[in-house]
Amino acid sequence: MNKYLSNVIEDTKRKHASEPEFVQTVEDVFSSVEPLVNAHPEYEKFDILGRMVEPERMFIFRVVWMDDNGEYHTNRGWRCQFNGALGPYKGGLRFQKNVNESIIKFLGFEQTFKNALTGLPIGGGKGGSDFDPAGKSDAEILRFCQSYMTALYRYIGPDVDVPAGDMGVGKREIGYLFGQYRRLKGVWENGVITGKGLSYGGSLIRPEATGYGAVYYLEEVLEHENDSIEGKRIGVSGFGNVAWGIMKKATQLGAKVTYVSGPDGYFYDPDGVSTEEKISFIEHMRATDPRHCKPYADKFGVEFVPGTKFWGVKDVDVYMPSAVQNDVTLEWAEKILESGVKYYIEVANMPTTNEALAALRRKEGLIVAPSKAVNAGGVGVSALEMSQNSERLVWSAKEVDEQLHRMMKNIHDVSMKTAEEFGLGYDLVAGGNIAGFKKVAEAMLEQGVF
Ligand code: GLU
Repeated sequence: MNKYLSNVIEDTKRKHASEPEFVQTVEDVFSSVEPLVNAHPEYEKFDILGRMVEPERMFIFRVVWMDDNGEYHTNRGWRCQFNGALGPYKGGLRFQKNVNESIIKFLGFEQTFKNALTGLPIGGGKGGSDFDPAGKSDAEILRFCQSYMTALYRYIGPDVDVPAGDMGVGKREIGYLFGQYRRLKGVWENGVITGKGLSYGGSLIRPEATGYGAVYYLEEVLEHENDSIEGKRIGVSGFGNVAWGIMKKATQLGAKVTYVSGPDGYFYDPDGVSTEEKISFIEHMRATDPRHCKPYADKFGVEFVPGTKFWGVKDVDVYMPSAVQNDVTLEWAEKILESGVKYYIEVANMPTTNEALAALRRKEGLIVAPSKAVNAGGVGVSALEMSQNSERLVWSAKEVDEQLHRMMKNIHDVSMKTAEEFGLGYDLVAGGNIAGFKKVAEAMLEQGVF
Protein backbone atom coordinates (compact mmCIF):
# COMPACT_ATOMS: atom_id res chain seq x y z
CA MET A 1 0.00 0.00 0.00
CA ASN A 2 1.06 3.61 -0.64
CA LYS A 3 3.32 4.54 2.26
CA TYR A 4 1.79 7.91 2.95
CA LEU A 5 -1.70 6.43 2.93
CA SER A 6 -0.81 3.61 5.29
CA ASN A 7 0.96 6.06 7.64
CA VAL A 8 -2.17 8.20 7.89
CA ILE A 9 -4.31 5.11 8.50
CA GLU A 10 -1.93 3.91 11.24
CA ASP A 11 -1.95 7.36 12.78
CA THR A 12 -5.74 7.47 12.72
CA LYS A 13 -5.95 4.06 14.40
CA ARG A 14 -3.60 5.23 17.12
CA LYS A 15 -5.26 8.59 17.72
CA HIS A 16 -8.79 7.22 17.55
CA ALA A 17 -8.33 3.87 19.26
CA SER A 18 -11.60 4.32 21.12
CA GLU A 19 -13.57 5.27 17.99
CA PRO A 20 -14.09 2.06 16.00
CA GLU A 21 -16.73 3.36 13.57
CA PHE A 22 -14.59 6.33 12.63
CA VAL A 23 -11.50 4.18 12.07
CA GLN A 24 -13.61 1.79 10.01
CA THR A 25 -14.84 4.47 7.63
CA VAL A 26 -11.38 6.00 7.22
CA GLU A 27 -9.97 2.59 6.30
CA ASP A 28 -12.81 2.00 3.88
CA VAL A 29 -12.50 5.32 2.05
CA PHE A 30 -8.70 5.33 2.05
CA SER A 31 -8.43 1.80 0.71
CA SER A 32 -10.46 2.95 -2.30
CA VAL A 33 -8.53 6.12 -3.03
CA GLU A 34 -5.09 4.56 -3.27
CA PRO A 35 -4.84 4.90 -7.09
CA LEU A 36 -5.77 8.58 -6.78
CA VAL A 37 -3.18 9.19 -4.07
CA ASN A 38 -0.55 7.43 -6.19
CA ALA A 39 -1.38 9.72 -9.10
CA HIS A 40 -1.19 12.87 -6.95
CA PRO A 41 2.10 13.14 -5.08
CA GLU A 42 1.12 16.70 -4.07
CA TYR A 43 -1.42 15.22 -1.65
CA GLU A 44 1.48 14.10 0.50
CA LYS A 45 3.36 17.35 0.14
CA PHE A 46 0.35 19.30 1.36
CA ASP A 47 -0.72 16.60 3.79
CA ILE A 48 -4.19 16.34 2.30
CA LEU A 49 -4.89 12.94 3.86
CA GLY A 50 -3.78 14.00 7.32
CA ARG A 51 -6.04 17.04 7.08
CA MET A 52 -8.90 15.02 5.66
CA VAL A 53 -9.20 12.85 8.80
CA GLU A 54 -9.14 15.76 11.24
CA PRO A 55 -12.49 17.55 11.64
CA GLU A 56 -12.15 21.33 11.27
CA ARG A 57 -13.86 21.56 14.64
CA MET A 58 -16.25 19.65 16.81
CA PHE A 59 -18.48 20.85 19.63
CA ILE A 60 -19.62 18.85 22.62
CA PHE A 61 -22.29 20.37 24.78
CA ARG A 62 -24.56 19.68 27.69
CA VAL A 63 -28.29 19.44 27.01
CA VAL A 64 -30.42 19.62 30.13
CA TRP A 65 -34.17 19.21 29.91
CA MET A 66 -37.07 18.60 32.23
CA ASP A 67 -39.48 15.70 31.77
CA ASP A 68 -43.23 15.83 32.30
CA ASN A 69 -42.83 14.92 35.98
CA GLY A 70 -40.50 17.82 36.60
CA GLU A 71 -37.39 15.64 36.75
CA TYR A 72 -34.10 16.81 35.25
CA HIS A 73 -32.16 14.89 32.61
CA THR A 74 -28.72 15.60 31.21
CA ASN A 75 -27.72 14.48 27.75
CA ARG A 76 -24.68 15.08 25.64
CA GLY A 77 -24.91 16.90 22.30
CA TRP A 78 -22.40 17.03 19.46
CA ARG A 79 -21.89 18.95 16.25
CA CYS A 80 -18.97 18.04 14.05
CA GLN A 81 -17.99 20.55 11.35
CA PHE A 82 -15.89 18.11 9.46
CA ASN A 83 -14.89 19.76 6.23
CA GLY A 84 -15.99 23.13 4.84
CA ALA A 85 -13.89 23.25 1.67
CA LEU A 86 -16.90 22.99 -0.65
CA GLY A 87 -19.51 25.03 1.21
CA PRO A 88 -21.27 25.51 4.53
CA TYR A 89 -21.08 22.39 6.69
CA LYS A 90 -24.13 20.30 5.92
CA GLY A 91 -25.48 17.16 7.48
CA GLY A 92 -28.11 15.79 9.78
CA LEU A 93 -28.64 15.48 13.51
CA ARG A 94 -29.12 12.01 14.96
CA PHE A 95 -30.95 11.60 18.26
CA GLN A 96 -30.45 8.04 19.41
CA LYS A 97 -29.44 6.45 22.68
CA ASN A 98 -26.29 4.82 21.30
CA VAL A 99 -24.90 7.96 19.61
CA ASN A 100 -21.32 8.74 20.61
CA GLU A 101 -18.36 10.71 19.32
CA SER A 102 -17.17 7.91 17.06
CA ILE A 103 -20.54 7.65 15.34
CA ILE A 104 -20.84 11.40 14.81
CA LYS A 105 -17.30 11.55 13.43
CA PHE A 106 -17.77 8.64 11.05
CA LEU A 107 -20.98 10.15 9.77
CA GLY A 108 -19.33 13.57 9.34
CA PHE A 109 -16.43 12.05 7.42
CA GLU A 110 -18.75 10.13 5.09
CA GLN A 111 -20.96 13.19 4.70
CA THR A 112 -18.06 15.22 3.34
CA PHE A 113 -17.60 12.92 0.34
CA LYS A 114 -21.30 12.27 -0.11
CA ASN A 115 -22.00 15.97 -0.26
CA ALA A 116 -19.17 16.41 -2.76
CA LEU A 117 -20.81 13.79 -4.99
CA THR A 118 -24.04 15.78 -5.16
CA GLY A 119 -22.12 18.37 -7.18
CA LEU A 120 -23.64 21.12 -5.00
CA PRO A 121 -21.75 23.59 -2.80
CA ILE A 122 -22.03 21.91 0.59
CA GLY A 123 -19.32 20.90 3.06
CA GLY A 124 -19.63 17.97 5.45
CA GLY A 125 -20.96 18.02 9.01
CA LYS A 126 -22.99 15.90 11.38
CA GLY A 127 -24.40 16.16 14.86
CA GLY A 128 -26.65 14.56 17.35
CA SER A 129 -27.26 13.52 20.88
CA ASP A 130 -27.46 10.40 23.02
CA PHE A 131 -31.03 11.43 23.83
CA ASP A 132 -33.46 8.55 23.36
CA PRO A 133 -36.68 9.84 21.76
CA ALA A 134 -38.50 6.53 22.34
CA GLY A 135 -41.56 6.96 24.50
CA LYS A 136 -41.07 10.70 25.06
CA SER A 137 -44.08 12.98 25.03
CA ASP A 138 -44.40 15.80 22.58
CA ALA A 139 -43.75 18.33 25.34
CA GLU A 140 -40.57 16.49 26.35
CA ILE A 141 -39.34 16.45 22.76
CA LEU A 142 -40.08 20.17 22.54
CA ARG A 143 -38.11 20.95 25.71
CA PHE A 144 -35.22 18.79 24.61
CA CYS A 145 -35.05 20.41 21.16
CA GLN A 146 -35.19 23.91 22.66
CA SER A 147 -32.37 23.12 25.03
CA TYR A 148 -30.35 21.51 22.24
CA MET A 149 -30.70 24.55 19.99
CA THR A 150 -29.92 26.94 22.84
CA ALA A 151 -26.51 25.27 23.05
CA LEU A 152 -25.98 25.08 19.29
CA TYR A 153 -27.41 28.24 17.74
CA ARG A 154 -24.32 30.42 17.94
CA TYR A 155 -22.25 27.95 15.91
CA ILE A 156 -24.59 27.54 12.93
CA GLY A 157 -26.13 29.74 10.25
CA PRO A 158 -27.25 29.61 6.59
CA ASP A 159 -23.69 30.34 5.41
CA VAL A 160 -21.95 28.57 8.27
CA ASP A 161 -23.44 25.21 9.10
CA VAL A 162 -26.86 23.87 8.13
CA PRO A 163 -28.16 20.90 10.13
CA ALA A 164 -31.05 18.68 9.07
CA GLY A 165 -32.71 15.50 10.26
CA ASP A 166 -31.35 12.01 10.61
CA MET A 167 -32.49 9.11 12.80
CA GLY A 168 -34.76 10.37 15.58
CA VAL A 169 -35.02 13.82 14.01
CA GLY A 170 -37.95 14.37 11.68
CA LYS A 171 -40.23 17.21 10.69
CA ARG A 172 -41.52 17.76 14.24
CA GLU A 173 -38.02 18.06 15.77
CA ILE A 174 -36.84 20.27 12.90
CA GLY A 175 -39.77 22.61 13.58
CA TYR A 176 -38.96 22.89 17.28
CA LEU A 177 -35.26 23.40 16.57
CA PHE A 178 -35.93 26.12 14.00
CA GLY A 179 -38.47 27.83 16.26
CA GLN A 180 -35.90 28.08 19.02
CA TYR A 181 -33.20 29.35 16.63
CA ARG A 182 -35.52 32.09 15.39
CA ARG A 183 -36.48 33.02 18.93
CA LEU A 184 -32.86 33.28 20.05
CA LYS A 185 -31.52 35.14 17.02
CA GLY A 186 -34.54 37.25 16.19
CA VAL A 187 -33.98 36.86 12.45
CA TRP A 188 -35.73 35.04 9.63
CA GLU A 189 -32.94 32.74 8.51
CA ASN A 190 -34.82 29.65 7.50
CA GLY A 191 -31.87 28.48 5.41
CA VAL A 192 -30.19 27.53 8.71
CA ILE A 193 -31.86 24.13 8.76
CA THR A 194 -33.38 21.82 6.16
CA GLY A 195 -36.15 19.26 6.18
CA LYS A 196 -38.53 21.99 7.31
CA GLY A 197 -42.30 21.92 7.03
CA LEU A 198 -43.73 23.40 3.86
CA SER A 199 -45.35 26.28 5.74
CA TYR A 200 -42.01 27.89 6.60
CA GLY A 201 -39.66 27.12 3.72
CA GLY A 202 -39.39 23.36 3.43
CA SER A 203 -38.88 21.83 0.01
CA LEU A 204 -41.39 19.64 -1.75
CA ILE A 205 -40.00 16.10 -2.25
CA ARG A 206 -37.50 16.48 0.63
CA PRO A 207 -39.21 13.80 2.77
CA GLU A 208 -39.14 11.37 -0.15
CA ALA A 209 -35.77 12.43 -1.56
CA THR A 210 -33.41 9.87 -0.01
CA GLY A 211 -35.60 6.89 -0.93
CA TYR A 212 -36.51 8.23 -4.38
CA GLY A 213 -32.87 9.04 -5.06
CA ALA A 214 -31.82 5.52 -4.07
CA VAL A 215 -34.31 4.03 -6.54
CA TYR A 216 -33.20 6.43 -9.30
CA TYR A 217 -29.63 5.31 -8.68
CA LEU A 218 -30.74 1.67 -8.80
CA GLU A 219 -32.38 2.35 -12.16
CA GLU A 220 -29.06 3.61 -13.51
CA VAL A 221 -27.31 0.46 -12.32
CA LEU A 222 -29.99 -1.69 -13.92
CA GLU A 223 -29.75 0.23 -17.16
CA HIS A 224 -26.01 -0.32 -17.19
CA GLU A 225 -26.71 -4.05 -16.91
CA ASN A 226 -29.31 -3.90 -19.72
CA ASP A 227 -31.88 -4.73 -17.13
CA SER A 228 -34.93 -2.79 -15.94
CA ILE A 229 -36.71 -2.01 -12.71
CA GLU A 230 -40.04 -3.38 -13.90
CA GLY A 231 -41.04 -6.36 -11.77
CA LYS A 232 -38.00 -6.27 -9.51
CA ARG A 233 -38.44 -7.62 -5.97
CA ILE A 234 -36.52 -5.69 -3.34
CA GLY A 235 -35.49 -6.60 0.20
CA VAL A 236 -35.10 -3.56 2.44
CA SER A 237 -33.82 -3.53 6.01
CA GLY A 238 -35.38 -0.85 8.18
CA PHE A 239 -38.71 0.91 7.80
CA GLY A 240 -37.78 4.49 8.49
CA ASN A 241 -38.12 7.49 6.25
CA VAL A 242 -35.66 6.18 3.66
CA ALA A 243 -37.30 2.76 3.32
CA TRP A 244 -40.67 4.49 3.01
CA GLY A 245 -39.39 6.57 0.06
CA ILE A 246 -38.01 3.42 -1.59
CA MET A 247 -41.37 1.68 -1.23
CA LYS A 248 -43.22 4.59 -2.81
CA LYS A 249 -40.89 5.04 -5.76
CA ALA A 250 -40.42 1.31 -6.38
CA THR A 251 -44.20 0.94 -6.54
CA GLN A 252 -44.54 3.84 -8.99
CA LEU A 253 -41.97 2.22 -11.26
CA GLY A 254 -43.50 -1.25 -11.23
CA ALA A 255 -41.15 -2.87 -8.71
CA LYS A 256 -42.05 -4.00 -5.18
CA VAL A 257 -40.50 -4.24 -1.73
CA THR A 258 -41.25 -7.77 -0.53
CA TYR A 259 -38.97 -8.21 2.49
CA VAL A 260 -38.68 -5.67 5.30
CA SER A 261 -36.81 -6.05 8.56
CA GLY A 262 -36.84 -4.24 11.87
CA PRO A 263 -35.09 -4.72 15.21
CA ASP A 264 -37.63 -7.45 16.08
CA GLY A 265 -37.31 -9.62 12.95
CA TYR A 266 -38.61 -9.42 9.39
CA PHE A 267 -41.80 -9.82 7.40
CA TYR A 268 -42.35 -11.18 3.91
CA ASP A 269 -45.14 -9.73 1.81
CA PRO A 270 -45.17 -11.46 -1.59
CA ASP A 271 -47.43 -8.74 -3.03
CA GLY A 272 -45.03 -6.05 -1.86
CA VAL A 273 -45.55 -3.03 0.36
CA SER A 274 -47.22 -1.43 -2.56
CA THR A 275 -50.65 -0.08 -1.80
CA GLU A 276 -51.32 3.33 -0.34
CA GLU A 277 -52.75 1.70 2.77
CA LYS A 278 -49.64 -0.43 3.33
CA ILE A 279 -47.22 2.43 2.72
CA SER A 280 -49.15 4.67 5.14
CA PHE A 281 -49.07 1.90 7.69
CA ILE A 282 -45.26 1.84 7.41
CA GLU A 283 -45.27 5.57 8.19
CA HIS A 284 -47.55 4.95 11.15
CA MET A 285 -45.29 2.16 12.50
CA ARG A 286 -42.25 4.37 12.23
CA ALA A 287 -43.98 7.15 14.15
CA THR A 288 -45.47 4.99 16.87
CA ASP A 289 -43.17 2.01 17.40
CA PRO A 290 -39.91 2.11 15.46
CA ARG A 291 -38.60 -1.03 17.16
CA HIS A 292 -41.22 -3.44 15.79
CA CYS A 293 -42.23 -4.36 12.27
CA LYS A 294 -44.41 -7.28 13.38
CA PRO A 295 -47.54 -5.07 13.50
CA TYR A 296 -47.41 -4.95 9.68
CA ALA A 297 -47.50 -8.75 9.48
CA ASP A 298 -50.38 -8.87 11.96
CA LYS A 299 -52.37 -6.25 10.13
CA PHE A 300 -51.93 -7.57 6.60
CA GLY A 301 -51.74 -11.26 7.43
CA VAL A 302 -48.27 -11.93 6.04
CA GLU A 303 -45.42 -14.06 7.33
CA PHE A 304 -43.28 -12.71 10.21
CA VAL A 305 -39.99 -14.27 11.26
CA PRO A 306 -38.86 -13.04 14.68
CA GLY A 307 -35.34 -12.28 15.87
CA THR A 308 -33.42 -12.52 12.62
CA LYS A 309 -32.64 -10.78 9.32
CA PHE A 310 -33.63 -11.86 5.81
CA TRP A 311 -30.16 -11.51 4.19
CA GLY A 312 -29.63 -14.65 2.16
CA VAL A 313 -33.17 -15.19 0.87
CA LYS A 314 -33.13 -16.08 -2.80
CA ASP A 315 -36.51 -14.75 -3.92
CA VAL A 316 -35.49 -11.12 -4.31
CA ASP A 317 -33.56 -9.36 -7.07
CA VAL A 318 -32.10 -6.47 -5.08
CA TYR A 319 -30.88 -6.07 -1.53
CA MET A 320 -31.06 -2.57 -0.09
CA PRO A 321 -29.73 -2.30 3.49
CA SER A 322 -31.44 0.86 4.73
CA ALA A 323 -31.33 0.55 8.51
CA VAL A 324 -28.21 1.19 10.62
CA GLN A 325 -24.44 0.94 10.37
CA ASN A 326 -22.87 -2.52 10.37
CA ASP A 327 -26.16 -4.25 9.67
CA VAL A 328 -24.45 -6.70 7.28
CA THR A 329 -21.55 -8.52 8.90
CA LEU A 330 -19.32 -11.08 7.20
CA GLU A 331 -21.63 -13.87 8.30
CA TRP A 332 -24.59 -12.23 6.59
CA ALA A 333 -22.50 -11.31 3.57
CA GLU A 334 -21.70 -15.01 3.09
CA LYS A 335 -25.40 -15.77 3.01
CA ILE A 336 -25.92 -12.98 0.49
CA LEU A 337 -23.15 -14.44 -1.67
CA GLU A 338 -24.78 -17.88 -1.53
CA SER A 339 -28.19 -16.44 -2.48
CA GLY A 340 -26.98 -15.50 -5.96
CA VAL A 341 -28.81 -12.13 -5.79
CA LYS A 342 -27.12 -9.77 -8.25
CA TYR A 343 -27.61 -6.29 -6.80
CA TYR A 344 -26.44 -5.12 -3.40
CA ILE A 345 -27.29 -1.43 -3.13
CA GLU A 346 -26.22 0.12 0.17
CA VAL A 347 -28.55 2.84 1.37
CA ALA A 348 -27.95 3.45 5.10
CA ASN A 349 -24.63 5.01 6.06
CA MET A 350 -21.96 2.29 6.34
CA PRO A 351 -24.45 -0.61 6.53
CA THR A 352 -21.75 -3.17 5.74
CA THR A 353 -18.69 -3.99 7.85
CA ASN A 354 -15.41 -3.58 6.00
CA GLU A 355 -14.70 -7.31 5.84
CA ALA A 356 -18.23 -8.01 4.63
CA LEU A 357 -17.93 -5.30 2.00
CA ALA A 358 -14.59 -6.67 0.82
CA ALA A 359 -16.11 -10.16 0.48
CA LEU A 360 -19.08 -8.84 -1.48
CA ARG A 361 -16.92 -6.74 -3.77
CA ARG A 362 -14.70 -9.73 -4.59
CA LYS A 363 -17.61 -11.70 -6.00
CA GLU A 364 -17.72 -11.73 -9.77
CA GLY A 365 -21.14 -10.68 -11.11
CA LEU A 366 -22.40 -9.11 -7.88
CA ILE A 367 -22.91 -5.38 -8.24
CA VAL A 368 -22.23 -3.39 -5.10
CA ALA A 369 -23.14 0.29 -4.82
CA PRO A 370 -21.95 2.46 -1.92
CA SER A 371 -24.29 4.33 0.37
CA LYS A 372 -22.51 7.66 0.07
CA ALA A 373 -23.60 7.74 -3.57
CA VAL A 374 -26.94 5.97 -3.27
CA ASN A 375 -28.34 8.03 -0.37
CA ALA A 376 -26.93 11.38 -1.50
CA GLY A 377 -30.30 12.48 -2.89
CA GLY A 378 -31.50 13.38 0.60
CA VAL A 379 -28.80 15.88 1.33
CA GLY A 380 -28.85 16.91 -2.34
CA VAL A 381 -32.46 18.03 -2.02
CA SER A 382 -31.54 19.72 1.26
CA ALA A 383 -29.10 21.80 -0.76
CA LEU A 384 -31.96 22.61 -3.15
CA GLU A 385 -34.02 23.64 -0.12
CA MET A 386 -31.20 26.03 0.82
CA SER A 387 -31.29 27.52 -2.69
CA GLN A 388 -35.06 28.00 -2.49
CA ASN A 389 -34.71 29.67 0.91
CA SER A 390 -32.09 32.10 -0.33
CA GLU A 391 -34.25 32.90 -3.37
CA ARG A 392 -37.32 33.21 -1.10
CA LEU A 393 -39.15 30.95 -3.51
CA VAL A 394 -40.69 27.50 -3.48
CA TRP A 395 -40.02 25.27 -6.46
CA SER A 396 -42.63 22.84 -7.71
CA ALA A 397 -42.48 19.17 -6.80
CA LYS A 398 -41.88 18.38 -10.46
CA GLU A 399 -38.90 20.70 -10.65
CA VAL A 400 -37.30 19.34 -7.47
CA ASP A 401 -37.93 15.76 -8.52
CA GLU A 402 -36.38 16.35 -11.94
CA GLN A 403 -33.30 17.91 -10.37
CA LEU A 404 -33.04 14.99 -7.96
CA HIS A 405 -33.32 12.54 -10.83
CA ARG A 406 -30.59 14.30 -12.80
CA MET A 407 -28.39 14.47 -9.70
CA MET A 408 -28.62 10.71 -9.11
CA LYS A 409 -27.90 9.95 -12.75
CA ASN A 410 -24.92 12.22 -12.56
CA ILE A 411 -23.59 10.63 -9.37
CA HIS A 412 -23.82 7.21 -10.96
CA ASP A 413 -22.15 8.38 -14.19
CA VAL A 414 -19.33 10.23 -12.43
CA SER A 415 -18.66 7.19 -10.23
CA MET A 416 -18.64 4.89 -13.24
CA LYS A 417 -16.39 7.12 -15.33
CA THR A 418 -13.97 7.73 -12.47
CA ALA A 419 -13.56 4.00 -11.88
CA GLU A 420 -12.97 3.49 -15.61
CA GLU A 421 -10.41 6.28 -15.67
CA PHE A 422 -8.39 4.40 -13.04
CA GLY A 423 -8.74 1.10 -14.88
CA LEU A 424 -11.05 -0.38 -12.24
CA GLY A 425 -13.95 -1.42 -14.47
CA TYR A 426 -17.52 -0.98 -13.25
CA ASP A 427 -16.55 -0.47 -9.62
CA LEU A 428 -19.10 1.93 -8.14
CA VAL A 429 -17.60 1.75 -4.64
CA ALA A 430 -14.12 2.81 -5.69
CA GLY A 431 -15.45 5.23 -8.33
CA GLY A 432 -17.74 6.99 -5.83
CA ASN A 433 -15.06 7.22 -3.18
CA ILE A 434 -12.45 8.55 -5.59
CA ALA A 435 -14.75 11.08 -7.25
CA GLY A 436 -15.93 12.54 -3.92
CA PHE A 437 -12.47 12.58 -2.43
CA LYS A 438 -10.89 14.20 -5.48
CA LYS A 439 -13.31 17.09 -5.48
CA VAL A 440 -12.73 17.86 -1.79
CA ALA A 441 -8.96 17.48 -2.16
CA GLU A 442 -8.86 19.90 -5.10
CA ALA A 443 -10.78 22.56 -3.18
CA MET A 444 -8.50 22.10 -0.17
CA LEU A 445 -5.37 22.44 -2.28
CA GLU A 446 -6.66 25.62 -3.92
CA GLN A 447 -7.54 27.19 -0.57
CA GLY A 448 -4.03 26.98 0.85
CA VAL A 449 -3.26 26.06 4.41
CA PHE A 450 -6.51 25.27 6.22
N1 GLU B 1 -29.06 12.93 7.44
C1 GLU B 1 -29.16 12.92 6.01
C2 GLU B 1 -27.85 12.43 5.43
O1 GLU B 1 -27.17 11.69 6.03
C3 GLU B 1 -29.56 14.26 5.46
C4 GLU B 1 -28.61 15.35 5.73
C5 GLU B 1 -29.08 16.71 5.21
O2 GLU B 1 -30.10 16.77 4.57
O3 GLU B 1 -28.35 17.67 5.49
O4 GLU B 1 -27.46 12.72 4.32
